[in-house]
Amino acid sequence: METCIFCEIIGKQTTTRILYEDDSVMAFPDSNPLAPVHVLIIPKKHIASVTEVEPEDEGLMGHLIMAAKRLAEELGISRDGYKLLIRAGSHGGQEVSHLHLHLIGGAPLFEDIRPWAE
Ligand code: AMP
Ligand code: ZN
Repeated sequence: METCIFCEIIGKQTTTRILYEDDSVMAFPDSNPLAPVHVLIIPKKHIASVTEVEPEDEGLMGHLIMAAKRLAEELGISRDGYKLLIRAGSHGGQEVSHLHLHLIGGAPLFEDIRPWAE
């Protein structure tokens, strides 16, 4: 199996600072933050992309969002709001092939979602 950087983080093979961890999910700061708060929440189970999510993962996907919601509260960005983002595949701009939920906030966020070719 190819090495997966996020599986290495889960396996504590890196010095990544863990912000939250339980039996099924883990959260850590994005190494290239787009905003004052930029956290990635990932399932411990290696799922390559949201395109690979199975019906049995429904609870896990809800758990990811609940973890993000609680982290937003703990990090003090809940009142003003934030974005939750999951990219999938090449059109979605996904770069790491281990499903991850971005929690982005701490400042008003610019929105620029449009096709490359218009
Ligand atoms: P995406 O384009 O949605 O696949 O986002 C991948 C994100 O992972 C980017 O925001 C990267 O900055 C972030 N990233 C890549 N490698 C690491 C790492 N080792 N630790 C933390 N964040 C990472
Ligand atoms: Zn992985």
